[in-house]
Amino acid sequence: MSKPNPFEVAQKQLDDCAKILNLDAGVHEFLRHPRREFHVSIPVRMDDGKIKVFQGFRVQYNDALGPCKGGIRYHPDETIDTVRALAAWMTWKTSLLGLPLGGGKGGVICNPKELSLGEQERLSRGYIDMIWQYIGPEKDVPAPDVYTTPQMMAWMMDEYSKLTGSNSFGCITGKPLCVGGSCGRSDATARGGMYTLREAAKELNIDLKKATVAIQGYGNAGSYAHTLAIDLFGSKVVAVSDSKGGVYNANGIDPDVAGRIKAETSTVANIPQSKKISNEELLELDVDILFAAALENVITKENAGSIKAKIIVELANGPTTPEADAILYRNGVHVIPDFLANAGGVTVSYFEMVQNIMRYCWSFDEVYQKLDERMTMAYHGVLGASKKYNINMRQAAYTVAVARVVEAMKMRGWI
Ligand code: GLU
Repeated sequence: MSKPNPFEVAQKQLDDCAKILNLDAGVHEFLRHPRREFHVSIPVRMDDGKIKVFQGFRVQYNDALGPCKGGIRYHPDETIDTVRALAAWMTWKTSLLGLPLGGGKGGVICNPKELSLGEQERLSRGYIDMIWQYIGPEKDVPAPDVYTTPQMMAWMMDEYSKLTGSNSFGCITGKPLCVGGSCGRSDATARGGMYTLREAAKELNIDLKKATVAIQGYGNAGSYAHTLAIDLFGSKVVAVSDSKGGVYNANGIDPDVAGRIKAETSTVANIPQSKKISNEELLELDVDILFAAALENVITKENAGSIKAKIIVELANGPTTPEADAILYRNGVHVIPDFLANAGGVTVSYFEMVQNIMRYCWSFDEVYQKLDERMTMAYHGVLGASKKYNINMRQAAYTVAVARVVEAMKMRGWI
């Protein structure tokens, strides 16, 4: 089964929204494409002395609301269309959260798991060498995403600072705390998702203390979701998975054990005293809450009808195809869509930028409280629109986000 092209998915979602909002045809067409994109070749001296050339991208989708904002992915299967889709979703995400930022995304085709630390550093610096003139606090502010880390953000910030002859902490977010990072950035994506889940559970009368949870994907978002579902709500996490497979244990899975096994064997599939399951099986488990925290296109028309979870929290970007969306909506599954559910990451990135500008540091509690306020407000904005127009939560999120971008473009005189 060939996977849908993520950019076509993003465009299709926008087309739906354009109908609901009765968007002007020209404005609609403008929003269907990125404003600007860069394709770069990055030569990297490998440890064996040879030069290897990596292909990279940066897409600046729309900056009507402010400088572009969005992560950089390192992935062997990265494509320009994936980056375009992710940049579009960032545009809707920052808008939905009311942040004074536009949307962008970057990517490099590589497998960081096969690169030494030195090669990772030279690649990260090389990427910035190719795009530094076009990014910066007033233009476009990158951040981490799939397979990129705070350490890489520190190298990138340092490279940008050297090239501009400054200490430009605000040029990138998701940095380590000691070089201008923010308290609460590491678990922000998962934590933000938890705040929206809390609100959804109230709406659906689900007691999260008694809820069972399955988590697909065990990177930054999935692993923190495991800890937080237990710490914040006392829910029982019965299944977890990563790219190599997963496990199920009806008695619950301890996040410390999962973290240790993942660190030792590079997969959670080796967690002892539990049943091995595939990623596909995990998605269809009889649980209350499903976290989709891996990659795009995992919930499709093939499996959507078999999903038993009452709430899906999309911590990944683009996990559900449009056909699957329609099936889930028909079956009464409450989907907290990606650019709402996972917006905690960019929201704390925005807080990081603000602190960098102020040269001031907020405490964990301050960050959590500000994040909670924004996520809760955004969730209820989307829920309200979904009820008002009788549309699903993703379509509702689109109406709120796109309308704000259109309004800004009008005010700026672009359209
Ligand atoms: N990569 C994250 C996302 O998809 C965070 C982006 C950011 O912090 O700018 O939302």
